[in-house]
Amino acid sequence: MNFEIVGIGRSIVSEQNTAAVAAPAGPVVVIGAGPVGLAAAAHLAERGVDFLVLESGPGVAAAIEEWRHVKLFSPWRYNIDSAARKLLEHADWVEPDLGKLPTGGDLIDSYLEPLTKTPELNDRIRYNSPVSAVTRVGFDRVRTTARELAPFLIRLADGTEILASAVIDAAGTWRRPNVLGGSGIPARGETDIADGIAHALPDVLGRDRDRYAGRRTAVVGAGHSASTTLLDLGTLAKEVPGTEIVWVVRGTDQARTYGGGDADELPARGALGSRLKKLVQSGQVELVSSFHIEAASRTADGRVELASGEQRVIADTVVNSTGFRPDHDMVGELRLDLDSIMGSTRALAPLIDPNQHSCGTVPPHGADELAHPEPGYYAIGAKSYGRAPTFLLATGYEQARSVVAALAGDWEAARDVQLDLPETGVCSSNLAYGDASGETAGGCCGPAPQAVEISAPAGRGLATGISGGLLTIIDDAPTTNQSSCCN
Ligand SMILES: Cc1cc2nc3c(=O)[nH]c(=O)nc-3n(C[C@H](O)[C@H](O)[C@H](O)COP(=O)(O)OP(=O)(O)OC[C@H]3O[C@@H](n4cnc5c(N)ncnc54)[C@H](O)[C@@H]3O)c2cc1C
Repeated sequence: MNFEIVGIGRSIVSEQNTAAVAAPAGPVVVIGAGPVGLAAAAHLAERGVDFLVLESGPGVAAAIEEWRHVKLFSPWRYNIDSAARKLLEHADWVEPDLGKLPTGGDLIDSYLEPLTKTPELNDRIRYNSPVSAVTRVGFDRVRTTARELAPFLIRLADGTEILASAVIDAAGTWRRPNVLGGSGIPARGETDIADGIAHALPDVLGRDRDRYAGRRTAVVGAGHSASTTLLDLGTLAKEVPGTEIVWVVRGTDQARTYGGGDADELPARGALGSRLKKLVQSGQVELVSSFHIEAASRTADGRVELASGEQRVIADTVVNSTGFRPDHDMVGELRLDLDSIMGSTRALAPLIDPNQHSCGTVPPHGADELAHPEPGYYAIGAKSYGRAPTFLLATGYEQARSVVAALAGDWEAARDVQLDLPETGVCSSNLAYGDASGETAGGCCGPAPQAVEISAPAGRGLATGISGGLLTIIDDAPTTNQSSCCN
């Protein structure tokens, strides 16, 4: 066998529940150079643990690069990891205005890219290195004896194999959108018309404008990404005659997407929903509800046709805004304890259930909740939430800190899980820029046209992850599109 061993550094210690066992030598491999993978790298560097980051894309945060035009709803304050900050502060970094809302592009240009240039991370990240499989050397999923002593084996798409003492899987979910098919599997013909389907959050007003201007677009999905795209298309329709918008949803009642208007528990969400509702009521957006996509095909003139029973929707492009799911296939030979609905660990599932939580109400959690029966393997970041759309960077950074502490054998720190989100909320949002035109977009925890603080209902935190926390919606200068963590 021909393996690559990338440096033997300080050993990690693995403790699953109570029994401490020696872990195999080798670096900790972090999969994904997104914000959470890089946060893990920064914490590993801080603790002097050997590590290597493998990123499938040609540069840092290749997933965010695709939505660089979208404005986050969390101000900078909540988007910078504590260990990453320390590395940056030693490297002539110009800290962004912590109260401002970055775009995805800002996050890359002003934070993640400089972080990759720090001496601690600089030569530890390999780009163009998609991981295709992770297992343990000599062990399939069934074999038990001395399993925890075997190094992890990471195979890249080009066949390169790397050995590791532990794996932090921060691969996100962006590359695995849900299917259009209303039953969770691809609609008949869906894969054959793939070039007629766009990924969520296209840059309708910028890079991708030509694809949508003067054309008919069907947006499928009822989350905030769908709302964002619909509102952007509404703006485009005012500028370019002939731009047509159809909104395709499975449900019969759009109350959840619209929010409760003035009566909404979150006024910001209500504001976003009200704008979308107006677009629908004015006829600018044609709403097609109770539509379970069963089949997708091409019409004679090359358009996409979606079918639900006898109903049909025809469009030039279909935007798939139906959310994302994690890729567990590449770690299929590891022993995972997955919640059957969410696809997160079973311990985490009740804490992130979107039926119970918005992103801000997820309690802080760490290595214990993220542990699988496979010692030394942790999924963190957006991937750790499986299909739940409630993930926040601040939560992911705390996951990274806790998991790295656990891998370093510092279980006291690993279990001292806390989220540093005091009174001002993490789900702040700015929608003021759209006021004049009546067009805007929203965040997971909802947008608002002006600053407003909302008390959480008793027993449930809103934006802070702390019961009874506050959500602050901040007013900010007009810039670009804004969207949501939630699908
Ligand atoms: C439009 C949008 C707006 C958001 N706004 C906010 C916000 O305001 N506040 C907030 O807290 N959260 C927000 N989120 C949620 C969340 O913080 C982001 O999704 C964030 O990017 C998740 O970070 P991550 O590092 O877990 O995953 P990602 O950013 O998706 O990074 C994963 C990385 O892994 C790489 N990768 C994937 N597969 C492999 C593989 N097999 N091998 C090697 N590398 C691989 C990818 O290329 C990518 O670079 C938003 C999400 C979206 C989509």
